[in-house]
Amino acid sequence: MSSSRKDRLIREKIHDPYHESRKYTDGAMCPGCSAIYQSGHWLWPKKEEAQNITSADQYLCPACKRIRDKYPAGVVVLEGQYLDRRKDEILNLIDRIVQEQGYKSPLRKVIDRDENKGRIVINVTDDHMARHLGESIYRAHKGDLKIKYGEETRFVRVYWSRDLP
Ligand SMILES: [Zn+2]
Repeated sequence: MSSSRKDRLIREKIHDPYHESRKYTDGAMCPGCSAIYQSGHWLWPKKEEAQNITSADQYLCPACKRIRDKYPAGVVVLEGQYLDRRKDEILNLIDRIVQEQGYKSPLRKVIDRDENKGRIVINVTDDHMARHLGESIYRAHKGDLKIKYGEETRFVRVYWSRDLP
């Protein structure tokens, strides 16, 4: 079985209390980040639209709900001596990916980032985003990458490490 098919099977089975299959009213706005709900998706409004939003319906989008509750859909853990040596470069890469991902979808946000004793932990609101961060760091810096999905809820733990040779 291909890994993408396997991922799909895993994802269909699990329950996501934040994304839900609930429908919001078209044109509803998130008071946290000003994303707009349209035809089943949360999107960033176009500049000209943002001026005339008079939506009466306001709901926190799933990402802002996760930020409020500090309830990540993905956690990325980075460690190893190599990280210490190339930290600025790796943090720049992370910032760039976070920005790109956030631009693509309002649902891809960072909840928090913590650095402690040479270990960096990033909590994010989207499992694909967590995976994308791990894979990008791995592509650019090699090392070891492990990706582990939750069994019952939508959650992914991405673990990257590299020691110096
Ligand atoms: Zn929001």
